[in-house]
Amino acid sequence: MSEEHKLKNCKFCGKSLPEEAIFCYYCHRELLTRPERPSLEPELRPMNRIVLVVGIVILVVIVFMLVLR
Ligand SMILES: [Zn+2]
Repeated sequence: MSEEHKLKNCKFCGKSLPEEAIFCYYCHRELLTRPERPSLEPELRPMNRIVLVVGIVILVVIVFMLVLR
């Protein structure tokens, strides 16, 4: 008889707990495992960069047209 319970360690006291434990049975702290986000920084969308570049190009073209008149 082998027990195949998935265990995890309490990140606070280090005791082994069942995977489904919501709080530690020993130190009674919350163990809610939140999905870690790869980056908390608001990612600049590629679309925004393209719009920015196109806007700069258009601005430069307009300036050139005004200058070359
Ligand atoms: Zn604990």
